[in-house]
Amino acid sequence: MNTRTDLPPQTAAAALRVNGERLWQSLMELAQIGATPKGGVCRLTLTDLDKQGRDLVLAWAREAGMSVTIDKIGNGFMRRAGRNSALPPIMTGSHIDTQPTGGKFDGNYGVLAGLEVVRTLNDHGIETEAPIEVAFWTNEEGSRFVPVMMGSGVFAKAFTLEHAYAATDTEGKTVRGELERIGYIGEQEPGDHPIGAYFETHIEQGPVLEDADVTIGVVQGVLGIRWFDCTVTGMEAHAGPTPMALRRDALQVATHLMQEVVACALRHAPHGRGTVGMVHVHPNSRNVIPGRVKFSIDLRNGSDAAVDQMADEVKAAARKLAEDSGLTIQIDLVSSYPAQAFHADCINAVQRAAAQLGYSHMPAVSGAGHDAVYAARLAPAGMIFIPCKDGISHNEIEDAKPEHITAGANVLLHAMLERAGVVR
Ligand SMILES: [Zn+2]
Repeated sequence: MNTRTDLPPQTAAAALRVNGERLWQSLMELAQIGATPKGGVCRLTLTDLDKQGRDLVLAWAREAGMSVTIDKIGNGFMRRAGRNSALPPIMTGSHIDTQPTGGKFDGNYGVLAGLEVVRTLNDHGIETEAPIEVAFWTNEEGSRFVPVMMGSGVFAKAFTLEHAYAATDTEGKTVRGELERIGYIGEQEPGDHPIGAYFETHIEQGPVLEDADVTIGVVQGVLGIRWFDCTVTGMEAHAGPTPMALRRDALQVATHLMQEVVACALRHAPHGRGTVGMVHVHPNSRNVIPGRVKFSIDLRNGSDAAVDQMADEVKAAARKLAEDSGLTIQIDLVSSYPAQAFHADCINAVQRAAAQLGYSHMPAVSGAGHDAVYAARLAPAGMIFIPCKDGISHNEIEDAKPEHITAGANVLLHAMLERAGVVR
């Protein structure tokens, strides 16, 4: 029953706020499934615990009067009807699987914020023109099965269902087998499901918002990523008898290139990122001059052109180092993920909602991948970030403030209403 029948629908809707306490309680309840002693959550995809989490979320959706569809990769879609069922739904979603030492908020927040949007609309008897839909995507984390963002990736046809089904965990169990075992292999063909617009609410998983003391990050896009393996080859020799001038020390040359990776990212501020996270030194012996060093290079930036430029600069530095030192340096591309800019309409909807609600907000970029990246290939998409404590995620100590959790869900509510249209 609409208690505000004396007001025009847009005016009544503008005053809507989610029930932050209810959202927080639901987050805490879901976090009990797979709770770890340190206060985190271990709910790996397609395990018995994942099934319990899925069952609980779907039970909540049905209680809220939503219809449920599961597709062949186990993605769950919970729909609240709109006046015009021919319109594609305005969708939000994220994932409820976690890392082995995950937190309560990563992914789970995006799904439950969507559920809270629906509960709020129900409370106030608001009808939308387009349907509202909440999705949980299978295996976003990629911890048990590779590739990451599997459910949304299959949905967006970034790779095939067969490829995803065949992925195995360390025990040799397949995605297909595990989906069948937990009863989440649905009927619907992935992607056979148009989307009007997609929003995803997520903790930032980085320190920028907290550092700036800002409540809402209006996400502009997701950084493009290039992964390289770099091998520097010199010559092993005894650390004592070999004079400095006559050495072919692979590690000394490698460290110069490692510094260049960081220097390059600094030159490409503000969105450039350069990381050497993995190093193998051969033979890794205290009194042997290293003959071979293999290390990873992770480069990111806001556009593919910018990240490719960074890669060119690192390769040029490698060529010069190889010339100067006489050592061989080989750089191989391992993986490449395109940058994904979000849609101006969705970015603006998020920005307007944050402004109208009176929340401090700033443009943000995502350095991590999200299901929204694949959704953005199918429909206008955008993301809403909220701060998390010390920027820490993929960690049991991951934490977020209730007022930020509430604020992000309010922004989601109003961004979605803008796109879905309020009837009454
Ligand atoms: Zn996530």
